Amino acid sequence: MKVLIVEDEHRIATALQKGLKQERFAVDVAYDGASGYDLASVETYDVIVLDLMLPKMDGISVCKKLREGGNHTPILMLTAKNQVRDRVSGLDAGADDYLSKPFAFEELLARVRALTRRPQKMTETTLKVSDLTLDPKSFEVTRAGKSVQLSSKEFALLEYFMRNPNTILSKEQLISHVWNYDADILPNTVEVYVKKLREKIDVPFADKEPLLHTIRGFGYKLGV
Ligand code: CA
Repeated sequence: MKVLIVEDEHRIATALQKGLKQERFAVDVAYDGASGYDLASVETYDVIVLDLMLPKMDGISVCKKLREGGNHTPILMLTAKNQVRDRVSGLDAGADDYLSKPFAFEELLARVRALTRRPQKMTETTLKVSDLTLDPKSFEVTRAGKSVQLSSKEFALLEYFMRNPNTILSKEQLISHVWNYDADILPNTVEVYVKKLREKIDVPFADKEPLLHTIRGFGYKLGV
């Protein structure tokens, strides 16, 4: 899952970036509204955390402009404490949720998680594909009841596959949802990680159906 933080207060931006990275999110940061808008326009994010008061372009304008351009990425707006008018104009501009400053990181995390969940999966916390399970909160992964140990990047990749089961995902899609904008992506990065993942979720379970499939010329698919 990939998050864009648009926040001009470096202290807050850095704390959020650090916290979200620890929770296995890929994170990009923009320090003003204009560059936030630019990044959101060229990159694909699962959630945008958007401060209201920003230099160059305020949060409301960024939000409106994205929505007018057909970008429907969930937006969590950060507003000043008790500014009812700000919250209303944020939601009117197309934001999905808001959070008043100051806030606890846990609350932001809960809101971000709620926004990354697809509507039909609202009730589930644990993702399940065949006998493979992944708990986004505890980072636990099991196959056939056995615990599977993954690195953060392998976990992030598997989570994206499990949120899109039985769907062919191209390398470009995987890169744009799992890696940072400035990450070192080599032409075979995705292949390398898919191989690592396969060695952990399929290879040790030779008596079961493999779950991670290569679709030649198109990409990869997780499913039975
Ligand atoms: Ca600000």
